[in-house]
Amino acid sequence: MKDFRFKVPQNIEFGVGSLKKLPEILKENNSEHVYLVSDHGLESIGVVKKVQDIVEAGGLTCTTFLDVVPNPTVDVVNASTKLYKESGATSIIALGGGSSMDVAKATGVLATYGGEINDYEGLYKVPGPIVPMIAIPTTAGTGSEVTASAVITDEAKNFKMSVISYEILPKYAVLDPELIMTAPASIAASCGVDALIHAMEAYVSNFASPFSDAMAEKAMELIGGNLRRFVANRKDEEAACAMMVGSTFAGMAFAWAKLGNVHAMSHPVSAYFHVPHGVANAVILPTVVEYNALADNGRYEKIYNYISEDKEPVIDFTPDMLVDEVKKLNKDLGIPSSLSEVGVTEDKIEAMAKDAVAHPNVLANPRQTNLKEMIALYKKAL
Ligand SMILES: [Zn+2]
Repeated sequence: MKDFRFKVPQNIEFGVGSLKKLPEILKENNSEHVYLVSDHGLESIGVVKKVQDIVEAGGLTCTTFLDVVPNPTVDVVNASTKLYKESGATSIIALGGGSSMDVAKATGVLATYGGEINDYEGLYKVPGPIVPMIAIPTTAGTGSEVTASAVITDEAKNFKMSVISYEILPKYAVLDPELIMTAPASIAASCGVDALIHAMEAYVSNFASPFSDAMAEKAMELIGGNLRRFVANRKDEEAACAMMVGSTFAGMAFAWAKLGNVHAMSHPVSAYFHVPHGVANAVILPTVVEYNALADNGRYEKIYNYISEDKEPVIDFTPDMLVDEVKKLNKDLGIPSSLSEVGVTEDKIEAMAKDAVAHPNVLANPRQTNLKEMIALYKKAL
């Protein structure tokens, strides 16, 4: 067994209606004024107001920043940091999908330590704790509520930079399945496949440990058994609860085991072509599962058993059965089958491949990948 390090420092509050715990949590942290980071989409469906009302009913003050966009940029982070400092708030709520969490984490870093977010790019550059953060995911999901990374797009370079430091792990994750029960089917599908990919990539990662494996397996069990059902009916409370918890387990697994080529490849796709994170990952997944099959040490069969609809024991499993299974899953959920279908063009493949091979996730991928191989992977996925 390889050496490993694993910690789960968060407080996790789970339950339908668990948003109600917010005032109690803020008071626990002696914060009377909270800064809420979210987006206009969640404002328009009343979710922002719901959170604000709960906070204010507890006698606390709430300042909101709603200009988060998908694949958030350096400018968004700077605007948010400016408002945070002006507001006088002493804690942050991140409400939304991965983008709101990314902006909230980056705001926490800049508000505490100053400078530009580029200064903290890479591994462990954040010098110490940031302001207390409460992450409330509204998708299942990015797992960002339990991860130590923030991904911010540098528009000048068409590059998604990763700030990875355990200091930016949110102090609290409030998991309220009610919040994902209003998602459109397409969002539930792409975010759900993304969460499954987090567990799958963590499970076959070179950095997997028995602890991350345990989290990844539970995530695959919960997501594999409920994703189709949840996409079909987001009001299915049991499926929503399973997706929410599964997504958080997947986040914990990959926070330590890291990800792989799917995520290394999807970041440039999102940076160049503005494809949402979950969609980019889901489209790329079958290509990478096929590529990594050569490195399989028996884990593909376990993954297959978690996600296959066929509950009969498999005889004579071969890795291509998993490739077919993920293609089938994407098809059932209405995910596009190629990158060209989501607007990616061949002329950017070389530039994307260069960014992808430089991504730290490539080091976690079970099969080594050089630039030539990365170009071939993009061409195949196109
Ligand atoms: Zn992801």
